[in-house]
Amino acid sequence: MGGIFGITRKHDCVHDLFYGTDYLSHLGTKRGGLAVAGSDTFTSRVHLLESSYFRTKLEPDLKDLKGNIGLGAISDTDSQPLTFYSHLGSFSLVTVGRITNIDELAAEAGKYRYTFNRSSAGKVRPTEIIAMLLSRENSFEDGIRAVHARVKGSCSFIIMTEKGLYGCRDLLGRTPLTLGCKPGASSSDPEGWVLSSESSAFYNVGFETVRDLGPGEAIFVTPDGWETRIAPGNKMQICSFLWVYYGYPSACYEGVNVEDSRYRCGAALAAEDNVEVDFVGGIPDSGIGHAVGYANYRRLPYGRPLVKYTPTWPRSFMPQNQESRDLVAKMKLIPNRALIQDKRIAFLDDSIVRGTQLKDNVKVLYQQGAKEVHIRIACPTLVYPCPFLNFSPARSALELMGLKAIFALEGKEGKDIERYVNSADPKNAEMVEWIRGQFQLSSLKFQRLDNLVKAIGLPKQQLCTHCWDGSSFGN
Ligand code: SF4
Repeated sequence: MGGIFGITRKHDCVHDLFYGTDYLSHLGTKRGGLAVAGSDTFTSRVHLLESSYFRTKLEPDLKDLKGNIGLGAISDTDSQPLTFYSHLGSFSLVTVGRITNIDELAAEAGKYRYTFNRSSAGKVRPTEIIAMLLSRENSFEDGIRAVHARVKGSCSFIIMTEKGLYGCRDLLGRTPLTLGCKPGASSSDPEGWVLSSESSAFYNVGFETVRDLGPGEAIFVTPDGWETRIAPGNKMQICSFLWVYYGYPSACYEGVNVEDSRYRCGAALAAEDNVEVDFVGGIPDSGIGHAVGYANYRRLPYGRPLVKYTPTWPRSFMPQNQESRDLVAKMKLIPNRALIQDKRIAFLDDSIVRGTQLKDNVKVLYQQGAKEVHIRIACPTLVYPCPFLNFSPARSALELMGLKAIFALEGKEGKDIERYVNSADPKNAEMVEWIRGQFQLSSLKFQRLDNLVKAIGLPKQQLCTHCWDGSSFGN
């Protein structure tokens, strides 16, 4: 997915920019970068992150960066921040989201003989497309409106000029963007302002949450304050997966804390379950919050039969290459036979995407002597691939375990998908049973969508639930 960060301070911002951006590292794996606006220069540094961590890669560059306005990105798409010279003045840009009509927009730009950098993948970079849409207009505000009007999918972004930052949330608020401030000498005179994909980046660098931007809202932030430049819209479709899987436990989106919502998810599964087990465990990392909620609700012991080897495998996301991802997933978890042998275990996981990791984990549990393995999944069966975010490059429709099951049961046409995603329909039970059989589980249950929505706590119409029910509105 990726994360973006922007900061304006009355003093040099590089220390806070560096650590604040680093706290978005769980959101992406491909590239990371920083840019600062100094007195008359823009300086940026960008690195590949697939072989090392953001802090390790960027730390040697800090001596070259000076300024009181800065941008940072952890990206799963392109090299960011990028800096541009245009009739609107110099600006740097970071983006997060997915532009599904990027080829159409690039072809249209070609008609005007617009030139893009050629990326190593031979594709036009999303950040360049956004820069092109911005710089064709008479002001940044008009450019932001043009992005909202033209981009299909979703794109939140931060523009850095030498005067300040434009923080722009995507039109339907699928990705979050939160404003924070650093208290100054008096409460009416903050020392700095920050914009971030996640509020969990704030506390340790001395910032406090002010508020989330609304869907489609754009604000302009300087070291002295901020003002709304484009008012928020009244339709929101924030990604539900932020609470199920992506989000860091301490983050809040729309006022709803991630860890708290995972406890409610686990409790909702527990409320409809009476399987007899010896204890409850969770697949690290996000499965743990769901497991704690489940165990607490049923007053069952919580244990850690699979432990993550944090000294060298601290990240929850994986490299881009699927083989490397599978290897990392296997190597980072160590089973504890002393807890597993002869035990009946309820195991909570956030979701089943392709099922590869679950298959490996279940195999390990049986090899370590588990008597029964009961898997409980915090969300419904994934059937529809995400058209709005870069959820995972490997997530093509046919790889989704839910679709695999439907094709296996229905033949190639995969008809009656609506019946399969309805948890009250017998076809849904057939699909779950097919998946259970693939993993040789003692039992398998998925969260019902209405219970997931209740656990998040926002009205259904404000949440994107497309992954599970195919619903969507807007673009
Ligand atoms: S389709 Fe799924 S991953 Fe994509 S925005 Fe909607 S809920 Fe999130």
